[in-house]
Amino acid sequence: MEKPIPTCQHGQKMTWGKSTFEYDEDGIAVKVTDIPAWICHDCHDVSFPPGTSQQLITTIRELITATKRAKIKNIPLYEYYVKAA
Ligand SMILES: [Zn+2]
Repeated sequence: MEKPIPTCQHGQKMTWGKSTFEYDEDGIAVKVTDIPAWICHDCHDVSFPPGTSQQLITTIRELITATKRAKIKNIPLYEYYVKAA
């Protein structure tokens, strides 16, 4: 099934590519890179396919929880790099 090309808030056709999502909470910054998404190269508007936003929120929640746990244990780990194939 051919999916229609979404348009951004300015009506520009978006292109399929990879986006980065950053989130900050209680001094913990989470950055997720290479997320498949529709992107507008003019205004940098990003539209995630169905299910991706929910998956992102769930993943970020889990990462923040894990980082908070590590902080409580006073382990001096400040930066993580996690890559999933
Ligand atoms: Zn745009």
